[in-house]
Amino acid sequence: MWIVLLGAPGCGKGTQSEELVSDYGFSSILTGDLLRANKDKMVAGGKAIGDIMGSGALLPDEVTIGLIRDELQKLKSDRVIFDGFPRTIAQAESLNDMAEKCGKKIDKVINFIIDDEIVIKRITGRFKCARCGKIYNKFFLETRVSGVCDECGSTEFGHRSDDNAESLIKRLSEYHEKTYPLIDFYSRFGILYSVKADASFEEVTKEVVKVLNV
Ligand code: AMP
Repeated sequence: MWIVLLGAPGCGKGTQSEELVSDYGFSSILTGDLLRANKDKMVAGGKAIGDIMGSGALLPDEVTIGLIRDELQKLKSDRVIFDGFPRTIAQAESLNDMAEKCGKKIDKVINFIIDDEIVIKRITGRFKCARCGKIYNKFFLETRVSGVCDECGSTEFGHRSDDNAESLIKRLSEYHEKTYPLIDFYSRFGILYSVKADASFEEVTKEVVKVLNV
């Protein structure tokens, strides 16, 4: 089963994919995390990809398509979640081709519906534990004890460098211009399912699990 999670930055698809990995036996391809892990090694058009990412712009298709092609070689499960890929029509077409070559297909696409205003609040409030990476939000999900990570007890926290107002405006405009058209693309294949992403984490998980029937 190959699943694509689609939605604006901050819609919560990352936390939902973590849940599917930990509780439902999925492997995930987390495009943004993979890119962040490789940002000092990779360049695009002579520019460090970290600089492009920091600005909120999408990277050129060939960069992310190459990355995903490499990741597909390492898959350990038949249940795969694609989070953050595809984000353009060219990427979606390429993913269809890659799936076909692996004897697979995209079975379902879950579109997380959320208003830009909520996304802005979620992203500007987001912070994470510098040691274990657990994500919090000053508006929605504070640490239980102020300044101490619930998971590992660390008192060091950080922000993603692109979680700032200027970059966020660019990320949202990239989403509306280049990623939103994928809703129509996948609905024409009859595999698009929508989930309201402004509900609680547990409610969204319940909807996702219902759609996936796992
Ligand atoms: P994310 O963590 O998913 O919000 O992605 C962070 C940044 O990585 C984006 O703002 C883009 O610069 C880059 N990026 C992630 N996925 C893609 C993709 N599929 N295509 C192009 N750029 C991407």
